[in-house]
Amino acid sequence: MEKPMLVAGNWKMNGLKAALVEVEAIARAADSAPSRVEVAIAPPFTLLALARGAAAGTRLQLGGQDCHANPSGAHTGCIAAPMLADLGCDFVIVGHSERRTDNGETDAVVKLKATAAIVAGLRAIICVGETEAERDAARHLDVVAAQIDGSLPDADPASVVIAYEPVWAIGTGRTPLAGDVDEMHNAIRARLVARYGEDGRRILILYGGSVKPSNAAELFAVPEVGGALVGGASLKAADFLPIIAAA
Ligand code: PGA
Repeated sequence: MEKPMLVAGNWKMNGLKAALVEVEAIARAADSAPSRVEVAIAPPFTLLALARGAAAGTRLQLGGQDCHANPSGAHTGCIAAPMLADLGCDFVIVGHSERRTDNGETDAVVKLKATAAIVAGLRAIICVGETEAERDAARHLDVVAAQIDGSLPDADPASVVIAYEPVWAIGTGRTPLAGDVDEMHNAIRARLVARYGEDGRRILILYGGSVKPSNAAELFAVPEVGGALVGGASLKAADFLPIIAAA
């Protein structure tokens, strides 16, 4: 494949200091990847500073898994986008389905967070995706279109990345057919162009949900797939490196 790609790992609530050896191995792979392939991981906040050190001087990008919509203030337990930027982060994931479900985050909240991230100088990886019931009811295109419209910031589209993650594919080992991914990514692309004009063509649209070494190449071959957001298979370099190689 010759297109620009971003392969990003989302470690979720996983990783103790012992996992820094995985960061080091992933950082070496980031340096060996062709220049059109970007590699990133979002470890838990507790590991970010240590991971920044472990990846120092390499092309591995680091990010948070969430940020607050405000730049500072009385919000116990929360992390603000400028804090991530201050630490040397490159990006932050916003609107992951687990946060939409566990924390009740609406499209409006996701939009505020994405805007806060971009104002702080970070790229915002904005997650969207339908539930199984919504797909069964053939509402998946409408649901994702509404999420895109409601979650996208009005800010600079150069700092926006979309991750299409069908909720039913996350952590389940099930993935949509390549044709279904193609349909959805084309629909998202049309929405991005409608919103941002020609700039919308350059926004990377990642696929996420049970990406693994055995299915990465087929998913990456879909024309509008610009990389992957990888959960479980990003925790170990032994799984993540073949996915990077497939890009
Ligand atoms: P998974 O998670 O790869 O473990 O399915 C993907 C995600 O939630 O980003």
